[in-house]
Amino acid sequence: MLAKTPSCVECGLAWGAPRFKHEDEAPLYWSDTGLLCSSGCAQTHFAKRRAEGTFAGVPAECPVEV
Ligand SMILES: [Zn+2]
Repeated sequence: MLAKTPSCVECGLAWGAPRFKHEDEAPLYWSDTGLLCSSGCAQTHFAKRRAEGTFAGVPAECPVEV
């Protein structure tokens, strides 16, 4: 389930913030639970998900409409 105003699920950085890594209008990192602002947050997030056993092996659809 995605928030209407997406932000990084790890650090809470808002989508659109200058530090949020993106390619044109599309985010570079995300999971099935939301956006990730950077490779660091993505690594943290997926390591946690693996530890929890909730890691989704199938790539989620990009949550931002471009
Ligand atoms: Zn982040």
